[in-house]
Amino acid sequence: MATGSINVSVENIFPLIKKFLYSDHEIFLRELISNATDATLKLKHLTSIGEVNVEYGNPTIEVKIDKDKKQLHIIDQGIGMTAEEVEKYINQVAFSGAEEFLEKYKDSAKDSGIIGHFGLGFYSAFMVADKVEIITKSYKDEPAAHWICDGSPTYSIEAHDKTDRGTEIILHIGEDDVEFLEDSKINELLVKYNKFMPVAIKFGTKTETLPKPEDAKEEDPAPTQEVDNIINNPNPAWTKQPADLQDEDYKSFYRELYPMQFEEPLFNIHLNVDYPFNLTGILYFPKLGQDMGMQKDKIQLYQNQVFVTDNVEGIVPEFLTMLRGVIDSPDIPLNVSRSYLQADGNVKKISSYITRKVADKLNSMFKNNREDFEQKWNDIKIVIEYGMLSEEKFFEKADKFALYPTVDDTYLTFEELQEKIKDSQTDKDNKTVILYASNKDEQHAYITAAKDKGYEVLLLDSPIVSHLIQKLETSKENISFARVDADHIDNLIKKDEETISKLSDEEKEALKVDLEKVVPKEKYTVQLEAMDSNASPFMITQPEFMRRMKE
Ligand code: ADP
Ligand code: MG
Repeated sequence: MATGSINVSVENIFPLIKKFLYSDHEIFLRELISNATDATLKLKHLTSIGEVNVEYGNPTIEVKIDKDKKQLHIIDQGIGMTAEEVEKYINQVAFSGAEEFLEKYKDSAKDSGIIGHFGLGFYSAFMVADKVEIITKSYKDEPAAHWICDGSPTYSIEAHDKTDRGTEIILHIGEDDVEFLEDSKINELLVKYNKFMPVAIKFGTKTETLPKPEDAKEEDPAPTQEVDNIINNPNPAWTKQPADLQDEDYKSFYRELYPMQFEEPLFNIHLNVDYPFNLTGILYFPKLGQDMGMQKDKIQLYQNQVFVTDNVEGIVPEFLTMLRGVIDSPDIPLNVSRSYLQADGNVKKISSYITRKVADKLNSMFKNNREDFEQKWNDIKIVIEYGMLSEEKFFEKADKFALYPTVDDTYLTFEELQEKIKDSQTDKDNKTVILYASNKDEQHAYITAAKDKGYEVLLLDSPIVSHLIQKLETSKENISFARVDADHIDNLIKKDEETISKLSDEEKEALKVDLEKVVPKEKYTVQLEAMDSNASPFMITQPEFMRRMKE
């Protein structure tokens, strides 16, 4: 028997990385800006702990297009690399300098916001570039280095005369990817991926209008000046402490996230946890009304302020994907498939944490200002009812604040409702029967009749109400639901004994026979007595089970 090892050479791996590492070519910019950010944050951290003594100042990352040379430049003022470090960090594929840094400065750097992880991001540059150059000068007193690689496993490295600290990455954009030399394309990518990154990112300049001087004439144009065009907000609201934010701050952050959205959110939930996983974020309840389903893909997922995706399926419980906002967590494994995501322990914990926070927020709103909560009910019920159906844990919590509107526009919790009707709405099996209407106009006669008997009638009109009813009937003991036009509601104990028919028995019988000729008997029941006390001369009812069968 012979044994041997499978020989994987770099020659084989390199084109594979290029082709398959990331399905999306455009993320190369996100990766390179993440590296530039890391380099800047490392310097910041080292100066803050006194290990390095340099002027940290107000560093920016610059993105520049050189259309003539077909180059894209990403320039930072971070820690830079010595030639030796380039060999170590760049030439070793899948060796992450970010991870090494975090390991070395374990305790002090855990909140430094360092992004890198897998040691693969840099190579995504080759997805769009035929050739990549690195010109880099370390903060250490060593000459700058110039690394050049054309995408084959061979590279060159030599000294360079760069004197200012930091790194410049030069991408020679390939023929197939010239779109990345367009201002509009790069701007689009920066706004999508880098809008909230922690180090200022400059892309070109913009014209700013200055106030007119005191002695300016009416017709004088206001003076202008060219200023750096900074595309990001390095301190987005979700990275701040809830105690430091006012209602208006949350609203203005909402407008920043959804510039095209004119309606204000109803309220928000600030997520902030660092054990047993790290997660921050702000979720907004938009006005939903009836149009559920149209809202998906509105929650953005970030990792250390880098945009990752707006498909949060598997991370946020499904019923909450109707909300808006951001969540940011370094603990969500991203370079893995969705099905793996669902099985990941951390991801499961994150999902149930979010569910709990949402339930707690709703509960405190209900407790602190019930009137306001009732006013919002119509806009939020779809999320709550959907959640009650899909997540048992949420059902248990929501059961205390979920509201059931009556046809008289009052709102009852389930407990209040039960208390109110338990003595008056009981059927022959001693079950409490909850009456409801689904349409006030169409079922007007039935509603009036039931109310005349002193029954409470709910108005349940959301699209998933039949499922909710089923859920309540199976979760609660000794209750059942019946729509006002169901046939057996006359048998509830609090029947009005006093009603006297205005028709004689013979007249009633004749009318009944006539009606039954036109109404299919096997599906409906004709009732005459029931309606004597109001304007309707008779009622046609249907067994509850038959009606539900159709739904
Ligand atoms: P990761 O960011 O996951 O560590 P990358 O492949 O993106 O992996 O980068 C590899 C390493 O190269 C980084 O960890 C870092 O040490 C070094 N590096 C990359 N870009 C820069 C930069 N702009 N400035 C300084 N070091 C850099
Ligand atoms: Mg990286």
